[in-house]
Amino acid sequence: MEDRYGHRISYLRVSITDRCNERCRYCLPEEQQEWLPREDVLTYEEILRVIRVGAGLGISKIRVTGGEPLTRRNVLWFFEQLGRIEGIEDIGISTNGTLLARPANEGESLTVADQLRRCGVRTVNVSLDSLDRELYTRTTGRDFLPKAIEGIDAARAAGFDAIKMNSVLMRNQNEHELWDLIDFARERDLLLRFIELMPVSTTEMLTEENFLPIGEAKKLIEFKYGKLEPLPDFRTNGPASYYRLPETGQKIGFIGAMTNLHFCETCNKLRLTCEGKLRPCLGSHLEFDMRDVLRNPKMTDEDVARFFLDVVDRKPEQHEFRDNYQPGRRMIAIGG
Ligand code: SAM
Repeated sequence: MEDRYGHRISYLRVSITDRCNERCRYCLPEEQQEWLPREDVLTYEEILRVIRVGAGLGISKIRVTGGEPLTRRNVLWFFEQLGRIEGIEDIGISTNGTLLARPANEGESLTVADQLRRCGVRTVNVSLDSLDRELYTRTTGRDFLPKAIEGIDAARAAGFDAIKMNSVLMRNQNEHELWDLIDFARERDLLLRFIELMPVSTTEMLTEENFLPIGEAKKLIEFKYGKLEPLPDFRTNGPASYYRLPETGQKIGFIGAMTNLHFCETCNKLRLTCEGKLRPCLGSHLEFDMRDVLRNPKMTDEDVARFFLDVVDRKPEQHEFRDNYQPGRRMIAIGG
């Protein structure tokens, strides 16, 4: 699938739930918690059908996200089915990590991470903004730092192809921790990416006070580690730009949706929200309701395929975050 600006679409990011066991300030503040009624959320069968049809159109990479995907019931069954879909070559999950070290089944020694690996999941993206227990708790609304680290260690033991660590940059919050986050990632062989705060949040959150641009983060890093060397040819299927630290050779990614003017050039992605909205772009309010098509018994897989192609055709050239963008849906409702 190719849009009118030459973006080749091969990647579908699928949110399977809007529920989460954490309450990150920039994603789902505690006071705004309001879950979707269960019947509004696509069933696993409906999601798998969308992916099957997408695979027939050239989707080869799926990243499962949420909310916290591992909070949804029978999620391992879903991954098992996902791993069997022909044409899907790369499956990943985005998680806060807190449930990865749990036993996959009561009384079993296999962890959730082991079981995900067995289902064919290749990469795990774990969100970790702070190594300071107090700040972690303040940021996520939960005192789960030890669980998140335990989860990362379970993922390492499970032997995924790659484990990425995503840290959202917040001025005056984790700004002083960038070096520690880098050291933590190196010690555990995680590919660290720093992410600029995006306006898929509340207006109160995206302020000058909170926003730390990647340009400044790079300067802070260079102050201790020396000049970052750009790696223009190193890519991981997403919008991150990678650099190498001179002494250790550690790679670090930067996801600068707000300040990187070339952010959208290599976009290959669509998003499916958990209630069945197909979104051509995270940073645009455009979204199209696929659930009606999926739940209409007269609609065939060809209709679903046509829907996909229509949405691809409406994919904007670039996101609108820099154009006086007003926050609409929060990340939790879209799927990060
Ligand atoms: N629960 C999973 C997790 O923690 O990764 C998956 C969903 S979460 C919404 C996915 C990613 O979105 C996380 O790395 C989170 O930090 C990021 N995120 C959420 N709101 C954001 C915002 N306003 N700006 C930038 N990143 C955000």
